Amino acid sequence: MPAIILKQGREKSLLRRHPWIFSGAIHHVDDEPASGATVDLLSFDKQFLARASYSPHSQIRARVWTFQDKPIDADFFRQRIRSAIHSRDTWNLTPDTNSYRLIYAESDHLPGLIVDRYGDVLVLQSLTAGSEFWKETIADLLLEETGLSTIYERSDADVRELEGLEPRVGILRGTMPESRLTIYEHGLKFLVDIEHGHKTGFYVDQRKNRLRVRELARDKDILDCFCYTGGFTVNALAGAARSVLSIDSSGEALALAKENIILNDLPLDKANLTEGDVFQLLRKFRDENRSFDMIILDPPKFAPTAAQAERAARGYKDINLLAFKLLRPNGILVTFSCSGGVDAGLFQKIIAGAALDAGAEAQIVEHLSQGLDHPVSLHFPEGAYLKGLICFKPG
Ligand code: SAH
Repeated sequence: MPAIILKQGREKSLLRRHPWIFSGAIHHVDDEPASGATVDLLSFDKQFLARASYSPHSQIRARVWTFQDKPIDADFFRQRIRSAIHSRDTWNLTPDTNSYRLIYAESDHLPGLIVDRYGDVLVLQSLTAGSEFWKETIADLLLEETGLSTIYERSDADVRELEGLEPRVGILRGTMPESRLTIYEHGLKFLVDIEHGHKTGFYVDQRKNRLRVRELARDKDILDCFCYTGGFTVNALAGAARSVLSIDSSGEALALAKENIILNDLPLDKANLTEGDVFQLLRKFRDENRSFDMIILDPPKFAPTAAQAERAARGYKDINLLAFKLLRPNGILVTFSCSGGVDAGLFQKIIAGAALDAGAEAQIVEHLSQGLDHPVSLHFPEGAYLKGLICFKPG
């Protein structure tokens, strides 16, 4: 077995069960492993620490498969896949939901592998050399363990480049039923374009937060910023909102949002789907003295890593400050960050700064996070990327 021998003292993170080894911790690599191949991680004095996949092109040079001295083979992956499926079964997401994250990479002890289930179709994203090395084996096992027959691959995330991997998109197993699938989420229907949509097609991580908006929406004038295909908008309408103004820069996403409203027999006349830039439109609304009872801010990732946190903080502060100004007395702000580089503590500080500068005396009434199909390993806190706050602006 090829091996990575760590520098003296650099085994500490592994002893705390963190699954990554950075290039700077490595003393030397024995036997030139191939990209994605399995390697042993050994301490400086050659003690076995973990078995991992090798990423020769990435700063994260190895990712742990297991801390036990056992073979990495089809049986190993079968056990891991089974355990991920069991955890989702435990939480009883069905029957009014048929779309959820089945495998969430490091959190499910399968670094680099993301699998979302949309009804009877699995969408797989392979992000690292290790998950790529085992992809065909994993695809076969996924079908055996779920009893399904179709896997679509959306391995086109930018991070693949860091691993020296080309993007790959297309059918991996079975035949494509149709490019647009109809899924259920808490009883509402959504069209998901798994070929062209963002990520694997839909933001399943926001499921419970969308339901929360549905519960709070009654009789409110709502502004849904960064609405994509209408996840929050459809829920707001289903919750009997008085009106919903939804903004996104993507015309295609808005077209699908409109279809999703119609698909659920919700009143299209209460919805205003507007193509534009949220940063500009919020300013325009401020200048026009517009106001809303509830504002949802679910922007794209401003800071994938901590290095971009400062610039991201300015972006978050900008939109949240404007939102606080546009909120009516007794208004509700539902605000999110999905940036890995901005943690919950920093995010709360940014929102506090935004309220202060807007002259709003707001309260936090709820902390929000990603759904339970996106669990966070206690040893890999990086898995907690989505944080949100529901803030109340008293009258
Ligand atoms: N809330 C959505 C997910 C939002 S994803 C849901 O629940 O499904 C972020 C969205 O922001 C994308 O649809 C993207 O097209 C849009 N976007 C990115 N930058 C934008 C900008 N400056 N103005 C408006 N929309 C933007």
